[in-house]
Amino acid sequence: MRILIIEDDKDTLQYIKTRLEERCFAVDTAETGEGGLRLAKANDYDLILLDHGLPGKDGMEVCREIRTQPELSRKGTPIIMISVTNEVDYKVAALDHGADDYVTKPFFFDELYARIQAVLRRPPVKETGRFELDDLSLDVASQKVVRGEKSVYLTKKEFALLEYLLRNKGHVVSRGAITEHAWDMNIDSLSNTIEMHILNLRKKLELPKKKKLIYSVPGRGYKIDVER
Ligand code: CA
Repeated sequence: MRILIIEDDKDTLQYIKTRLEERCFAVDTAETGEGGLRLAKANDYDLILLDHGLPGKDGMEVCREIRTQPELSRKGTPIIMISVTNEVDYKVAALDHGADDYVTKPFFFDELYARIQAVLRRPPVKETGRFELDDLSLDVASQKVVRGEKSVYLTKKEFALLEYLLRNKGHVVSRGAITEHAWDMNIDSLSNTIEMHILNLRKKLELPKKKKLIYSVPGRGYKIDVER
């Protein structure tokens, strides 16, 4: 079993690494969120131990990126978050962001180890690659988008944009995040290109008598959701 530990506290990092290696785990380490994300992309881990308090991107942000960046979320690697915070709201947020379990510092290694074993015993969560909202569905494998009974034809970029919005359903995504995650390297330099694709998506998806799904949030970005 290969484990990635993302933790900036050198003593904690070394302690967990040593104890896991004693139990025959292969262990890689990163001391920043960015470094951890790089390793998570490059290698296939059976589990990621993720500290919350990290310099730069914090653990919650890293967790969210692992669950929303297509190349990472596809791997479905389990994540155990580690934090000094013991508040329920925080734990709920961690689970909401895609963590599989949560350990509060300070912890006994045996507790962490038991949680690691429990998470590793779960059958791997294979991404279904299917997203649904209202009567809209998007299927990654077949590249099909359906609203109600009607199949909707999207260009490659519109599809990538819609998939990214749906992965972040209910959350505002910035134009920067869209450029980073949903666009390939050949993005047009035209600054209005994201707006243009959003507009096209709306035209194709928000047909008469259908609920509005895509919202602009001035100064922040876009969100896909059903208004309640
Ligand atoms: Ca820390």
